[in-house]
Amino acid sequence: MPLGFRKNLRDSRSAASDRRAAETGGAPDRSVVLGEVEELGIGMFWATDAEGNLSFLSSRALADLGAGAEDLIGKPLIRVFNDIDAEAGGPTQRSLAFKLKARSKLDEQIVALTDARGSTRWWRLNGRPLLDAEGNFRGYRGSAVDISAQYAYETQVARQSQVDELTGLANRRKLNERLSAMLAAFRVSQRSCALMMLDLDRFKQVNDTMGHPAGDELLKQVATRLQSIVKDAGEVGRLGGDEFQVLLPDMDDRGTLGELANRIVQSISQPYQINGRRAIIGTSVGIAIAPYDGLEADELTRAADMALYSAKETRGGTFCFFTSELRDAASKTALLGERLRDAVDKGELKLAYQPLVDPVTNEVKCFEALLRWHDEEEGDISPAQFIPVAENDDLIIRIGEAALRQACIDALAWPETIRVAVNVSAKQFVRPGYRKAVAAALQASGLPPQRLELEITESVFVGDLETVDAIFRDLKKLGVRLALDDFGTGYSSLGYLKHGHFNKIKIDQSFVRGCTENGDINPAIIAAIVALAKALGMETVAEGVEAMDELALVKERGADLVQGYIFSKPITQEQVLAQFAEGAGLFRPSGPPRHRAERITIFRKVGLIHEDHYYDVILRNLSKTGARITGLAGVPVGTDVVLDLGHGQLVVSRVANATENSQGLKFETPLIADGSGGFMTRHRISPYSLAEAGIPLAALGPGAFPLAKWREANKSVPKFVQLELSAPGS
Ligand code: C2E
Ligand code: MG
Ligand code: MG
Repeated sequence: MPLGFRKNLRDSRSAASDRRAAETGGAPDRSVVLGEVEELGIGMFWATDAEGNLSFLSSRALADLGAGAEDLIGKPLIRVFNDIDAEAGGPTQRSLAFKLKARSKLDEQIVALTDARGSTRWWRLNGRPLLDAEGNFRGYRGSAVDISAQYAYETQVARQSQVDELTGLANRRKLNERLSAMLAAFRVSQRSCALMMLDLDRFKQVNDTMGHPAGDELLKQVATRLQSIVKDAGEVGRLGGDEFQVLLPDMDDRGTLGELANRIVQSISQPYQINGRRAIIGTSVGIAIAPYDGLEADELTRAADMALYSAKETRGGTFCFFTSELRDAASKTALLGERLRDAVDKGELKLAYQPLVDPVTNEVKCFEALLRWHDEEEGDISPAQFIPVAENDDLIIRIGEAALRQACIDALAWPETIRVAVNVSAKQFVRPGYRKAVAAALQASGLPPQRLELEITESVFVGDLETVDAIFRDLKKLGVRLALDDFGTGYSSLGYLKHGHFNKIKIDQSFVRGCTENGDINPAIIAAIVALAKALGMETVAEGVEAMDELALVKERGADLVQGYIFSKPITQEQVLAQFAEGAGLFRPSGPPRHRAERITIFRKVGLIHEDHYYDVILRNLSKTGARITGLAGVPVGTDVVLDLGHGQLVVSRVANATENSQGLKFETPLIADGSGGFMTRHRISPYSLAEAGIPLAALGPGAFPLAKWREANKSVPKFVQLELSAPGS
């Protein structure tokens, strides 16, 4: 057959080559020359027909590939190169297919194919589309050189040292080298550099249920998404497993970094398509910035790691900046875990119930069961704090199932029309025995299933969605109701709402709080969620309503139920029963007329600089735009001061209002959210500028800024009266 083809080739040769042949005159037969070229090892030849099927391989090529190579003739060219290891050939294949389709010429295209012995050969192809006199495409004609030996060696060397095999990103070694080199250079030029550490949430679940090849594919897609967000602002790498890292030179603006981290979290949480199946994962991000949080690579890496740990612990699907408080957080968590285990053994966890009220009639329709833990030493510990700790091990199963059983028993004592809602941790939900536990709780209490509502957060929609779907179907068969909690905070994909699993959506507090402020887009979001829910036949609940104006707004936007302090804080079962004993289950709204800008109430010792004196003051509360302090007497309105929030966070402020010994400060530039409910400054004073003032860099602990030293050096006369500071909280 190859011979027959040679004849075709001659017949269809182009006019141009005809001319050239005539010019050289009495030259030897072309096929002979080609044969000689091949023999000398200079190249091999190939051709396709107009359909893109391989129609010719020169004899050297056939010999090279070994027995059975003739079978390749007639196969689509793209298939000839398809029988290779997808990982090694992936990118090349794709661009080859693209070029063939576009009929563009092939320039030094590297492809791989499998020889008769099953080993991969690497060829470098050159080729051109052949057009006949009418301009019709007749196929490709081209040459090839076997570069296997050289290629395998080069790629191996390159990859082993620098590149992560699976994703093609920088590997751990390269990242470490880059980070060390960058920090050393930046120290000289006093530049900053941010390090983001990423860990995927629930990747293991995808790997376990869908298989490792699916897991690999997922990692590749994650790598692509990361790169498309970071672009050339930094370098993305994979440390191994489901851990990624981003190195961002000349970045110390925590506002910008937070936005970038947020975009990364959002993008990674969008659904993935893997071999026709859908999967959703999330990611947590920890951020540390040199020189503030560390000067050396290992120091900075540890700081970013701690921030990551904290982000994961908060709830996953979020980011966190390093702060020095995080350093001892890990040991605190371990301690809390021990205490919690103890409390569970002793039955110290109790349930409180918060009403969900119809805002039109003020009638209660449902109570949400919320765990309460009072520790002798620590006082009340919030479930937002201990649930994540319980989720670290199987304690959450015990706690969750006990809460479920108790809630069913308590609800049976309420009027028949009142439902009970129980929170379910994602970890509890995906556990194989969960359906049984629900059935058992219903059975033991005698509560009709339609009176039980399970509150699930969006975080269950990660991992293998088919498995999650099956759990939903099982639960629905039991007859219980399902509510989607904290809607809008996590993965926020509307896709899973369409499956019709849910009877109810709970709009997260963050949309409600402050929604009455001018220019806020949250009212529009609330209205959209309500409309969507109505269209899909679901009930809506507005969570966390505190002020009368918020109540009016959510009512007007059509929320079916309201849950919040405006109607009632969580109350005990005794109080619930007393309420019903009095007659109707009515809750009247009462609360402040208007929402007030969110303030975090804190009692923290901070510094205040006025002229050249440093005062100690107590921070009473802090918002984005201002703070209230106590501890100084007689500071007039309009005084310009600098608030020292610690760790190099200086805030230029002005006294906006004042009483005898407390002042309201207005900040020149607003603070930014720190990703975990607090505020921080965008920038910090750089250790470099302190170094210039004579404090050696190496003497600085990460995040420690010895303004105290500055104080000592500046023994100045105070203008204001420093009051004795009482213990926090008094
Ligand atoms: P969640 O399910 O979103 O519960 C609502 C939370 O908002 C409760 O906090 C409630 O006290 C609070 N809240 C309600 N109205 C207002 C308001 O008007 N203003 C403000 N500021 N807060 C309001 P809580 O009790 O601290 O619970 C926190 C979270 O802990 C819950 O959020 C839930 O995710 C989790 N949790 C509580 N109990 C359980 C449980 O038994 N199992 C599981 N897995 N998680 C639980
Ligand atoms: Mg809830
Ligand atoms: Mg909620």
